[in-house]
Amino acid sequence: MIRIGQGFDAHRFREGGRLVLGGVTVPHTHGMEAHSDGDVVIHALCDALLGALALGDIGQHFPDSSEEYAGIDSRILLRHVVSLVGERGFRLVNADITIIAQAPKLAAHLPQMQAILAADLQTTPDRVGLKATTTEHMGFTGRKEGIAVLAVVLLDDA
Ligand code: MG
Repeated sequence: MIRIGQGFDAHRFREGGRLVLGGVTVPHTHGMEAHSDGDVVIHALCDALLGALALGDIGQHFPDSSEEYAGIDSRILLRHVVSLVGERGFRLVNADITIIAQAPKLAAHLPQMQAILAADLQTTPDRVGLKATTTEHMGFTGRKEGIAVLAVVLLDDA
C-alpha cells in the first residue's frame, strides 16, 4: 500500500533569537516566535508524515501547552514521528518540501538542510526534495513577517 500526506506550517518572525530551518541555523535579523525551536520546515514535514497515516497532527503529539516541549529541537520531534511511521510498517518513498520566504536567502543552506532531513528520515538526500521560493513581495511572507512551508510525502509498506 502507498499513502500520501501533506503538511503546512507558518511561523511569525520575532526580533532576536535563532532562525532554525530544516535543522540548520540560518543567519538572519530575526528568529521565530514558537513554543519549540520554531523549525517550520520540520513541523510541516512532521504533519505530512502524520497525515499520510491519519495519525493527527504535530500539535496533538507534542502539545504547545506542555513544558516538556518548550524550546525543543524539532529534530527530536521529527525522529519520533519517523519512528511512529516505522512502527506501523511504513517507510518514506520520498518527500517534497517548499519553503516560502522572502527573506533570508536560503539557496546556500538547502543542501545542508536536505542532508539533515534525509538523516532523520532514515533515507538518502535524493529522496528529499527541498525548494525555496519567494512570493514576489506579496502576502505575509512577502512582507517578511514570517515563513511558511508546504510538505508532501509518499510512504509505502513494502
Ligand atoms: Mg509550527
